[in-house]
Amino acid sequence: MIHGSCLCGGVAYQLDGPLQFINHCHCSMCRKAHGAAFASFLHADAGGFRWLRGRELVHSYASSPGNLRCFCRVCGSNMPVLEDEDSHVIIPAGTLDNDPGLKPTVHIFCASKAPWFEITDALPRFDEFPPDDF
Ligand SMILES: [Zn+2]
Ligand SMILES: [Zn+2]
Repeated sequence: MIHGSCLCGGVAYQLDGPLQFINHCHCSMCRKAHGAAFASFLHADAGGFRWLRGRELVHSYASSPGNLRCFCRVCGSNMPVLEDEDSHVIIPAGTLDNDPGLKPTVHIFCASKAPWFEITDALPRFDEFPPDDF
């Protein structure tokens, strides 16, 4: 069972559904929202996702039409976002409390990468979203 929580501990969730992948997103919106060089997201089927506590503390912000970013309104931690009619969950990987057993596989939106950050691993890189057959 995978667990995660926010910085203040007010919000917690668990996940036991099928995991898909972890990506690193370098887009300017993720950089702003996470205050970091890039954001890492665990993608999974939402069937096994459950809020354990603090669901009422989770607020959202639409950074672009249809693209919600959820966060704890007490501590500001980025929180999981349910998409595709709640069938898919995107989890900010930094909020995980244990090892999901997956490693990141790709860098996306590299065209928007911070000029002060150098990607030094050998993972595939895409300027925007990867092609559908990736
Ligand atoms: Zn919090
Ligand atoms: Zn992004």
